[in-house]
Amino acid sequence: PPTHLSLGIDFGTSGARAIVIDPDCCVRAEVKSAFAEVDPAERASVWKTTLFELIGDLPIDVRAQLTQIAINGTSSTILLCNAQGEPLHPAVLYNETCDPEDLDLLDAIVPLGHTVLSASSSLAKFLTLSRQTDFSDAHALMHQADWLAYQLHGCLGISDYHNSLKLGYDPAIETYPDWFQDEQLRFLLPLLPRVIAPGTPIAPVQPAIAQRFDLPPHCQICAGTTDSIAAFLASGASYPGEAVTSLGSTLVLKLLSQTRIDQAQYGIYSHRFGQQWLVGGASNTGGAVLQQYFSTAELASLSALIDPQVVSPLDYYPLLKPGERFPINDPDLQPRLQPRPDQPAAFLHGLLESLARIEAQGYRLLQEQGATPVTQIYTAGGGAQNLTWQAIRQRYLQASIKEPRHRQAAYGTALLAARGCKLMG
Ligand code: ADP
Repeated sequence: PPTHLSLGIDFGTSGARAIVIDPDCCVRAEVKSAFAEVDPAERASVWKTTLFELIGDLPIDVRAQLTQIAINGTSSTILLCNAQGEPLHPAVLYNETCDPEDLDLLDAIVPLGHTVLSASSSLAKFLTLSRQTDFSDAHALMHQADWLAYQLHGCLGISDYHNSLKLGYDPAIETYPDWFQDEQLRFLLPLLPRVIAPGTPIAPVQPAIAQRFDLPPHCQICAGTTDSIAAFLASGASYPGEAVTSLGSTLVLKLLSQTRIDQAQYGIYSHRFGQQWLVGGASNTGGAVLQQYFSTAELASLSALIDPQVVSPLDYYPLLKPGERFPINDPDLQPRLQPRPDQPAAFLHGLLESLARIEAQGYRLLQEQGATPVTQIYTAGGGAQNLTWQAIRQRYLQASIKEPRHRQAAYGTALLAARGCKLMG
C-alpha cells in the first residue's frame, strides 16, 4: 500500500541534494548533484534544472508516494522577479554584499544592531539591486528557497520566517517592522513576501509538474527554511537546551532557547523556532585554522597520537586574521598561536584544546545573555568525525555530546516537510 513519503531538497553552497523519508523518518531515497561553475546570469536557470533533475532522479515508485515537499536554500541568496516569476537580474548569492551606501542608508533608518545591518543581508542587497535594475516590472522579492518552491507550486510572493529574517521580517510580531514605512524603503512594501511558518503547506504541486514527474496531484509544497537551520533540524535537536556545534571552516554554535537573544555586538541573533528561539553565534576561529597547518590526513593521524584526557597547557586563540566577534567582541583581536612546540601532535593538541575552550566560552556567553542552559550538544561539520577532539571538548562542556540523527541538511528539510512547524515545538 502507498505510504506518505516526504521529500526535502537542500540547495547548499556547493551542490544540491534530495532526501526522501518515510513516516518513521527512515531514508527511502537520496540523490545529489554538484553545481558547475556558471555565469551569474545562468545561476537561477541552473538551480531550476537541478531541481527538476533531482526529482526526476528519484525512483518512480518513491515519486508516486510523495505527499509533502520542502526546499531549503542558502540564507540571503536572493532574486527579484516579474509577475511571471522570471528573475529580472542575475541571482545574488549568500556571500555577495551590497554597495556600502546602502548599508549607510539602512543604518540611518533601522534600529541599532538589527540583523539587516550587514552588507550581506537580503534587505541591503535588494536596495543595491533597486538601483542597478529596472524596477518597473518588479513584482516579488524572493529568496532562493522561495523561488525554487514557486517552480513547484506556482504561487508568487510567499516566504518563510527563517529566510525572511535578514529581509527584516520580525517573527515575534509576525509582520514587517514600522521602519519599512520610511520614505526610502516604502517602495519595497508591495514587493515583500507574505511570510508563513517553515513547513506550512502552501499549495499542491502544479498539475503539469505532477504529470511530468508522476507525483500524486495532492502532493503539498511546503514553506522551506535555510541550509544551516535545515542542518540543525537534521541533528534531531528539538527541546530547549539542545544545541548543535558546527566544527566547519568556522566554529558556529546554535542553541534552542525559550528566550530570544539579539546582541549585535557579539553577532548573536535568534531565529524563531515554533514557540522557541534558535540562538546562534559564529566565531572566526575553527577548522580553517587547522587546515592552514595540517592536511585532512594529518588531522586524523596526529589526533590519534593525542591523549585527550591530558590537559594541554597551550592557550591559543586560533584565527586566520585579526578580529573576532563571538565569544569575544574585538575587531582587532590578534591571532595567538605561540609558543609552538616542535612536536606536531603537541601543537595540534594545543589547537584542539583552545578551540574547545572557545566553544565552551561561547555557550557560557549565550547563557549569560539569558539563553536556556545547554543540556545536550550535537556536532556537525568536518571536525565532527574527530573523536579525540570530542573527548577534549567533553572535558570543557557541561552538557553531554550526542551523535546527531543525520548530518545532511536535506534530511532536516524532509523532516520539516513531514512534520510541518510541529517539528519546531
Ligand atoms: P565548511 O564549513 O567549509 O562547510 P566542513 O564542515 O566541510 O566545512 O569542514 C571542513 C573543516 O573540517 C576543515 O576546515 C578541517 O579543518 C576540518 N576537519 C576535517 N577533518 C578533520 C579532523 N579529522 N579533525 C579536525 N578537523 C577536521
